[in-house]
Amino acid sequence: MVFKYLEKKNKSHEKVIFCFHPETKLKAIVAIHSTTLGPALGGCRMLPYETEEKALEDVLNLSEAMSYKAAMAGLQLGGGKSIIIGDPNVDKTPEMLWTFGIYLNSLSGQYITAKDMGITIEDLQYIGDQTSYVVGRPIDRGGAGDPSQFTATGVYYGIKKAVQLKLKRNSLKDLKVIVQGIGAVGSFLVKLLYQDDVEVLVYDINESAMIAMKEKFPKVKILSREEVFKRDCDIFAPCSIGAIVNDKTVETLKCSIIAGGANNQLSDLSIAEKLQSKNILYIPDFVINSGGLIYVSSYLDPKKSEEWIRSKIKAVSSTIEELCKISFEDNVSLVQMAFDLAQKKIKRGKI
Ligand code: NAD
Repeated sequence: MVFKYLEKKNKSHEKVIFCFHPETKLKAIVAIHSTTLGPALGGCRMLPYETEEKALEDVLNLSEAMSYKAAMAGLQLGGGKSIIIGDPNVDKTPEMLWTFGIYLNSLSGQYITAKDMGITIEDLQYIGDQTSYVVGRPIDRGGAGDPSQFTATGVYYGIKKAVQLKLKRNSLKDLKVIVQGIGAVGSFLVKLLYQDDVEVLVYDINESAMIAMKEKFPKVKILSREEVFKRDCDIFAPCSIGAIVNDKTVETLKCSIIAGGANNQLSDLSIAEKLQSKNILYIPDFVINSGGLIYVSSYLDPKKSEEWIRSKIKAVSSTIEELCKISFEDNVSLVQMAFDLAQKKIKRGKI
């Protein structure tokens, strides 16, 4: 088997490795942002990126966010991520995934992969046929299974806390929440909100997902692409791709809180200031969406109990409370504060 490795030292990352394997059409990038706190754990995303530059940009940003996510969740883990360039519905083959697994072995555990967009737990089983540096394989094969409901649960706790602090309400009943993206995380979040009598509005590029959602939860309202960033709501919950809150959408969003499961929701940090000036409370994604990471990380340490998982995910809410209190009292940017705190933890090598 011949791999063409290109190793690139990036200023902000410990390691960035490109892997091209023409025989299986594998084109992947692994980015390890930091291993200061532990091995870099982060999902593998498969998307038909328009260019390699866009793929690289995505994996660099995602892996950096994983470092901050682990640090903020108090996990002894570093930050890394991988991407496979291709359409998951067309290009993915077992051979491609096996090759990816073999290739992960060469990193000797510095990077551990998991599920992200375009990769299923069955795909992880193929990767796991070749490497042990993977978490989240099917439960009936001894794996952790899909972590998405744990991510959604953490987001739900985070939304409740944000509502308590910003809207001074202890219940979500009758609030209006837009869930943008109803895949694995978004659909579970919808379920939790629906149980709380929330008025849920959804949008997804996949029309059949919206129809299925409506059948399951008849009171859910379906939005069009034009409406999703314009409709009045209390909470806007991005649960799809990154950079959904950007220069364009920030102008039209009409909500009090942005809190969702997607990674890297802001196109850049300047958007945080714009949100603050619009009096929109943005809960940093790497603080609110760590539930799945907490869950899969427990599979790396047999001493971690179900109780440990539950309390760690609940702690998402207290972290948000602490950050918001300082941010409100001192009128400082919550996002910047969260970044600074996470970076401090990584620098001193302690969670
Ligand atoms: P998924 O692939 O299951 O779902 C994503 C959904 O978003 C799909 O239904 C897709 O059709 C939809 N979508 C894609 N582009 C869209 C767009 N432009 N507008 C509206 N909908 C769009 O992925 P997931 O596992 O639910 O992850 C969603 C987000 O949450 C990703 O950003 C992922 O990185 C992040 N995340 C996931 C987990 C997890 O446990 N799965 C953990 C942390 C963060």
